[in-house]
Amino acid sequence: MSPSRAARVQTVLSPIEPSELGFTLPHEHTAISLWHIPGRWDYWELSRDEPVITQELARYRDAGGSALVDVTPAGVGRDPAWLVGLARATGLHLVMGTGWYRGAYYPATLDLDRRTVASLADEMVREAEEGIVVEGLDAPVRAGIIGEIGTDKPWVSAMEERVHRAVGRASRRSGLAITTHAVMSAVGLAQLELFEAEGADPGRVVIGHADSHPRLDHYLEIIRRGANLEFDFLGMSFTPQERHGEPRLIDLLLELLSRGHADRVLLSQDVCHDQQLKRYEGNGYTYLQDTFLPRLRERGVSQADIDQMTIANPRRILTID
Ligand SMILES: [Zn+2]
Repeated sequence: MSPSRAARVQTVLSPIEPSELGFTLPHEHTAISLWHIPGRWDYWELSRDEPVITQELARYRDAGGSALVDVTPAGVGRDPAWLVGLARATGLHLVMGTGWYRGAYYPATLDLDRRTVASLADEMVREAEEGIVVEGLDAPVRAGIIGEIGTDKPWVSAMEERVHRAVGRASRRSGLAITTHAVMSAVGLAQLELFEAEGADPGRVVIGHADSHPRLDHYLEIIRRGANLEFDFLGMSFTPQERHGEPRLIDLLLELLSRGHADRVLLSQDVCHDQQLKRYEGNGYTYLQDTFLPRLRERGVSQADIDQMTIANPRRILTID
């Protein structure tokens, strides 16, 4: 069996043995720009500032970080060469996503309305298997996950449905997991239904931003259907719920753990704005190590459960058979 056919995690530099992956942040950005769409007038951005981002990532590595998944989709700032540079500079395992974000942010060049589901799926599978050729780099850069895949609203629009169906097919064909953007609603269940209808394995699906919809019944339904959920707004402080909702989230997480669901929960921070960086008095990429995990330990969460959520689960999701 060639290395590319064995079970592996696909980083931006090369495939690696899954066992090489330690503590992992499964839903992050290292550069993203969300302002350049019609009708949006603010300047929401995580600036592409190489010295600053390199230093922030180095602090994460020094705090015990091993890997980070950059789920920035094409059209809002994804750049394989940027990720390769950061991986080389920091020694972190960086994983790149494929696919498209959500209705408002689909790039015009995608020509989505005129393309078939099959051709969209082909493009993602190509990025997973052949990779993206970048001038100046020896090897093409391959995607290691599909996502983040989202909806603008608490429902799936017609165009978004086309992308979701293609994502389900691409996951089935490539073996890549799917990670989603599902905010402040139960829309993640509608996403899951579309992926499954196209043959994706629900065990390969992570419903993202689950902490923005803090409802136990919602979490239990995701788990009952065989998928995973992700608390990935940890340490955020944009909305009142983010600023004040953490105690309730920890209660819900403890409830999930007490029911034996540590194997279905992932944790991350979704750094997506300059103000989240330590440089600008934010939490950087180390809120889990600095604050959140110590709070879980204070509440009696075992190291075994913490390792399950921060090492074993992301490793399983990122392993491609
Ligand atoms: Zn995100």
